[in-house]
Amino acid sequence: MTLGSRGVRHYHVSMPSIETVLPKIKVSQRGAARLKSGHVWVYKSDVVAADGIAPGALVSVADQRGKSLGTALYSSSSQIAVRMISRDGVADFSALLRERIAAAISYREPLVKDTDAYRLIFSEADFLPGLIVDRYNDILSLQILTQAIDSNLVRENIILALSGSLQPAAIVERVDPRVRELEALPPRPSGLLQGEKTSTTFTMNKIQFHFDALEGQKTGAFLDQRENYAAAAQYAHGEALDVFCYQGGFALHLAPQCSQVTGVDSSRPALEVADQNAALNRTLIERGLHENEIEWIEANAFDLLKDYSSSNRRYDTIVLDPPAFAKTKRDLDSALRGYKELNLRALKMLRPGGLLVTCSCSYHVSQPDFVEMLATAALDARRTLRLLEVRGQAKDHPILLNVPETAYLKCVIASVS
Ligand code: SAH
Repeated sequence: MTLGSRGVRHYHVSMPSIETVLPKIKVSQRGAARLKSGHVWVYKSDVVAADGIAPGALVSVADQRGKSLGTALYSSSSQIAVRMISRDGVADFSALLRERIAAAISYREPLVKDTDAYRLIFSEADFLPGLIVDRYNDILSLQILTQAIDSNLVRENIILALSGSLQPAAIVERVDPRVRELEALPPRPSGLLQGEKTSTTFTMNKIQFHFDALEGQKTGAFLDQRENYAAAAQYAHGEALDVFCYQGGFALHLAPQCSQVTGVDSSRPALEVADQNAALNRTLIERGLHENEIEWIEANAFDLLKDYSSSNRRYDTIVLDPPAFAKTKRDLDSALRGYKELNLRALKMLRPGGLLVTCSCSYHVSQPDFVEMLATAALDARRTLRLLEVRGQAKDHPILLNVPETAYLKCVIASVS
């Protein structure tokens, strides 16, 4: 310890130098610039030297002149070769993991209300690239998306940290075989990592849902829409049509305010759960609906909307929540055409004073693109749209301002006249 010239005490702590401990990866000028702009990824094409670095290794990242840019997780096969986890050195990765998991849990405490189902950890947005954890009441559902997070040591640490702080009845892993292929990881089945329970019920905004940890799409539900369900319910009225309804997320939220609700999806298993969910909420739903006035239709949404609009079916509330149409940037034009077709038909079918709730979960379709598409659909349909809310994903899916890829969901609520 020395005393500085202005009376400031300087402590000299001997830290292990990351350069000597971790393998070093060099990135191009473009890669370095990307990191300096606040992004956390370096693409494979911007890696200039990664000789002998093991898949999934913790690496020290440097620019071409050797200047350190921080510490990252390396992937030997993905297009995203480097995912930053710190702008400094990392002395103990296991400790950092535990700290980050605890921080993700406490970040949500003041933000997440009226639900026991929400995203606990959202990959880059929680500074844990490659790890997604969703909570469904007493079951945690986990997704591992990168080589580094897939290592046994990391897995053990994650499970220890999650079970230590939340004491779930079970932790389940959902495997996306395509992701494992991209990361050159051996196939593995989805299944229980801890505990034995694989089904439960969860509640959001007072609506109850069945959850089967090893069935369904994504990790089981579309948690990112939770706040949008509540927002849409505020304005919903009359006869409602929920297109791409899955297990009834929007439909069940709208039901207490509506006289009739129809949910449409092409997936029969999803509709079977939707029907069971309706039964779970019978008392709440019947406040607004007359008996049997919630129905589920298995159909291709494009065909059904075409039939209904040409046979002059009318609704007071329509929700459109299709799957992502643009999986890559190249799909943008065709995606916008798809969104426009759906929105145009919905607009034509809404009664004056009707409510349109229209969503896109394609990252490649930006919010301005989406709103512009809607404006041209309104012109073509000769309807006037007044925006009530332009919304995004629920706050438990944080958006990192310097990592645009973390913002993907759009939900526009508009009054149609
Ligand atoms: N609104 C839902 C999530 C919708 S996800 C919720 O809040 O939970 C998209 C849904 O679209 C999936 O359930 C999928 O089965 C369905 N789907 C995909 N293509 C379809 C099509 N052509 N017609 C009808 N449904 C379709």
